[in-house]
Amino acid sequence: MPNAINVLGLFAHPDDAEFLCAGTLAHLAQRGASIHMATLTAGDCGSTNLPAAKISAVRRKEASRSAALIGARYHCLMSKDLLVFYDRPHLSKVMELVRQTRPSLVLTHSPVDYMIDHETVSHLCQSACFGAMAPNFSTGSHRPAPPLDGVPHLYYTDAFGKRDILGNKIESRLSVNIGATLKQKEEMLACHQSQQAWLKSQQEIPGTIVTMRNMAKEAGKRAGVRWAEGFRQHLGQGFPATNLLKELLGPLVR
Ligand SMILES: [Zn+2]
Repeated sequence: MPNAINVLGLFAHPDDAEFLCAGTLAHLAQRGASIHMATLTAGDCGSTNLPAAKISAVRRKEASRSAALIGARYHCLMSKDLLVFYDRPHLSKVMELVRQTRPSLVLTHSPVDYMIDHETVSHLCQSACFGAMAPNFSTGSHRPAPPLDGVPHLYYTDAFGKRDILGNKIESRLSVNIGATLKQKEEMLACHQSQQAWLKSQQEIPGTIVTMRNMAKEAGKRAGVRWAEGFRQHLGQGFPATNLLKELLGPLVR
């Protein structure tokens, strides 16, 4: 791997990255990449019994612990659940994060997913990657990072359930074999202890590890491997179209 590759995983809520791409982040970390894991919110709605400030503090700690397992740094942009908007304040803080972390590779939510926070983060991330080079976009930060030298490679993770809200299937275009990092992914997800009861009551998700394993098994089918994570690369004009993930992970990517 080229020296000093920075990778940013930017998602809406604590534990999204663990479900969607922690196995891939673990592979990249093992190959020497500096990993940044960021969430827009601290997951303030993710509890039926703790008030927002308390559950936010718990979940930030859980996310930091999970990130530390692969030597990653966790950043929380402190938006509120269900109140992630595509507006100037949100784009400014996402842009500042991109400029501060200076990634060559960015992973984020699918632009079409089961909830609007995820889709909005995906759109914010796309614009921040595209605009991070533009010196005339001021983030308003007290200590702004300089613009990037180039647009980073951007990849979208699978939508949850690999379907849009109308039930249409969204197929991955490439898969990363995570057989060797599944255990790390499980350990990272297990850090999000507060979510076990919540997901059971709110979304009838029986257990986070079982759910994650089912997702990884489903993603593995496309690649003909036991466990995988699925992605689609952003190939629109202005973005690099070479497959950096494949360059970094070689035969693990199909
Ligand atoms: Zn989420």
